[in-house]
Amino acid sequence: MRIVVCVKHVPDLQSDRRFTDEGRVDRDQGDGTLNELDENAVEAAVTLAEQHGGEVVALTMGPADAEDAVRRALQMGADDAVHVVDDALAGSDAFGTALTLAAAVRRIGEAGPVDLVVTGMAALDGLMSVVPTLLAGHLGLAQATLAAEVTLDPAAATVRVRRELDHASEVVEAPLPALVSVTDQANQPRYPNFKAIMAARKKAVTAWTLADLGLDPAEVGDAGARTRVLEATPRPPRENRVLVTDEGDAGLRLAAFLAENRLV
Ligand SMILES: Cc1cc2nc3c(=O)[nH]c(=O)nc-3n(C[C@H](O)[C@H](O)[C@H](O)COP(=O)(O)OP(=O)(O)OC[C@H]3O[C@@H](n4cnc5c(N)ncnc54)[C@H](O)[C@@H]3O)c2cc1C
Repeated sequence: MRIVVCVKHVPDLQSDRRFTDEGRVDRDQGDGTLNELDENAVEAAVTLAEQHGGEVVALTMGPADAEDAVRRALQMGADDAVHVVDDALAGSDAFGTALTLAAAVRRIGEAGPVDLVVTGMAALDGLMSVVPTLLAGHLGLAQATLAAEVTLDPAAATVRVRRELDHASEVVEAPLPALVSVTDQANQPRYPNFKAIMAARKKAVTAWTLADLGLDPAEVGDAGARTRVLEATPRPPRENRVLVTDEGDAGLRLAAFLAENRLV
């Protein structure tokens, strides 16, 4: 079983975020981290490999410090890591990202067939949630999005996914190879111990450029982007806030406020 898990390096959402003059998220603040929802993807991939044997390859596309994202995946138990890095990728939109990731998955597949691609449900900076679907389209894979549970049946060569929808719980099955995106309900990501962190340090991260993947720089980055951010402005702070200081009667005052404003 060979599993590729896609992980994105995103700005730390706990710190102040800025946009560049071009309306892009400012990624030069050096406080990037593994997209939190991709920890669930790594956990799902590593758990499946532990259950059924096989290896997990962590894959990221991003600037130089995006290597940290795949390093984190290595700490969590991925066996190998690939980082697609090339100046021409700057400004990539979801289409360019999916095209690049697809080329990298194909290249990973040259060393042995890829049975499953796992992604997170969304990257917390872009929040498009379309990269998994576009990626499955490029690779011609069956896909099951928003998995709250993932199980594999290697003998039948199928993957089974439970999806929690608003009014129903749905179980879908797809033939392998397939792509699955997982939600934060899928598992509790493990916290790497010291030994795992030290072992991950010794592992090499394979870096590929666009030329390595046979991609034309005109197809990706700013040059190939099909969408443009026209405007990006921080949301103004909320006005008319009511701050209730608890002096023993906060519950009563909150209930009164909700009733007065016809909210209950
Ligand atoms: C108009 C527009 C312009 C943009 N310009 C820029 C720009 O200049 N620079 C820039 O960096 N971004 C830019 N972005 C953001 C960029 O398009 C997205 O970050 C990227 O396409 C992925 O979309 P997303 O972050 O919404 O991922 P989602 O679709 O929300 O991601 C879902 C999952 O896909 C996987 N995934 C997504 N991206 C990656 C990745 N890079 N590597 C590995 N796995 C991944 C992860 O598993 C993730 O959980 C722009 C977006 C828009 C809409």
